[in-house]
Amino acid sequence: MSDYPAPLARLVDELRRLPGVGPKSAQRIAFHLLKAPKEDAARLAEAVGELQQALRLCSACNAVTDRDVCATCADGGRSDRVVCVVEEPHNLLAVERTRDFKGRYHVLHGALSPLQGIGPDELKVQGLLDRVRGGGVEEAAYLARLLKPLGVKVTRIAMGVPVGSDLEWADEVTMAKALEGRREY
Ligand code: ZN
Repeated sequence: MSDYPAPLARLVDELRRLPGVGPKSAQRIAFHLLKAPKEDAARLAEAVGELQQALRLCSACNAVTDRDVCATCADGGRSDRVVCVVEEPHNLLAVERTRDFKGRYHVLHGALSPLQGIGPDELKVQGLLDRVRGGGVEEAAYLARLLKPLGVKVTRIAMGVPVGSDLEWADEVTMAKALEGRREY
């Protein structure tokens, strides 16, 4: 991008680092922002800046939230007895969209991958174990090996959501069926 004035080249370079944005899209977006009203560009910059400043992880379930305890954890209408364990914060949103799950969540922020040296210690598992040990949880999906000894029923979601696929891309119906058809380990 050496032909571009430095500020433009810098923005194009930054945009290209985003997932799904190729060189052409990056240029299109950059030129769009150049032509856009100043307030629009400022709003975007402000939203990006605020993202990491205002958000943090829920102290109970590790979901992304702007409060100490996230909305699902604070929701008194949910059952404490069932915990849905997900790898990433966006997986939680995918399950929530089904409107079928009325339990709690736990977000690991990663996937167990023994071959890559990612074991329970690398993930946010301890908080989950503490919650289960604290009593009250009757069913938790995932992490069978860790959770089973604690005497809790462990289930995994049914097929329909391929193993290793991104829950984010499962539509609500598929996701709801997968939840409904979950089986015990
Ligand atoms: Zn939470």
